[in-house]
Amino acid sequence: MSRTWHILGAGSLGSLWACRLARGGLPVHLILRDAARLKSYEAAGGLTLVEHGHSQTLAIPAETPDAPTPIHRLLVACKAYDAEQAVARLAPRLARDAELILLQNGLGSQDAVAALVPQARCIVASSTEGAFRESDWKVVFAGHGFNWLGDPGNPAPPTWLGDLQDSAIPHQWTPDILTRLWRKLALNCAINPLTVLHDCRNGGLLDHHCEVATLCAELSELLQKCGQPQAAVELQFEVERVIQATAANYSSMYQDVRQGRRTEIGYLLGHACRVAARHRCNLPHLQRLYRRLVEHLNAHGLPSD
Ligand code: NAP
Repeated sequence: MSRTWHILGAGSLGSLWACRLARGGLPVHLILRDAARLKSYEAAGGLTLVEHGHSQTLAIPAETPDAPTPIHRLLVACKAYDAEQAVARLAPRLARDAELILLQNGLGSQDAVAALVPQARCIVASSTEGAFRESDWKVVFAGHGFNWLGDPGNPAPPTWLGDLQDSAIPHQWTPDILTRLWRKLALNCAINPLTVLHDCRNGGLLDHHCEVATLCAELSELLQKCGQPQAAVELQFEVERVIQATAANYSSMYQDVRQGRRTEIGYLLGHACRVAARHRCNLPHLQRLYRRLVEHLNAHGLPSD
């Protein structure tokens, strides 16, 4: 019998993972914010996953953070800015052999969580899957993709990768997970903030070729300085490829700002600028981009951390 998968945060990605694991016949428990959210979930009768236009509701059991049972395996599916606080509430419930899987985008939150729970193994994920909440407890699987998993401190794969196989969650164990996270962060920094500031779809950046190229050069310098040269290989080429391939799309940061939602800037461009400062790496265009984005968010009444 597999160990229970506790899923912290039943938002877009957490629900997508929870539904697939439950469909794969694995024991899954959702951990919701508080009693009010639990009551709302119970009234809905379960989580609904919409895939290829077909809906399926799964009555996955749920609990609040103060439930008494120990946690051996925890999938952390909150936003990067919520992860540390959410895990802190669960720390007393973590078993000695606990493993955490961190789904957060960007960098910075993973180290903060790992520092909170030094006895636990923290496995980091980088996902290209896409899901969004149509309403509370109803999630649409919008973009098929892939999940890379790895542990920067231990290259040995965990025993539960078979659970993901049984649940049809596409994945691969990789010793280079930090390189993947840095590469994704660099792509995000070169594209998403500019789409917000120029108020455009990704394809609109084709009109700002020089600005994109300058940012790519500075990001490549940063990746070299912080020991991630592989993440810098042909960065500009890939950024341009992504801009072309997703020309009709609005970036996730653009959509967050448009809908008045907090962005993960502190774990993306903010993290890049903090690491640059730590390495005494002068990247004037990246730093100016960060300042402009912070001003823009503040002007729209949104947090900039
Ligand atoms: P989301 O839809 O906003 O879901 C986050 C969930 O975390 C919400 O359900 C929220 O609860 C819950 N939460 C926050 N604090 C909590 C706490 N203290 N206790 C319990 N639950 C808590 O976010 P998401 O889109 O799934 O994103 C999660 C992470 O995955 C982000 O870092 C994102 O960048 C990354 N990611 C997302 C996608 C995607 O397609 N969505 C793709 C790749 C990567 P409430 O419902 O009560 O607010």
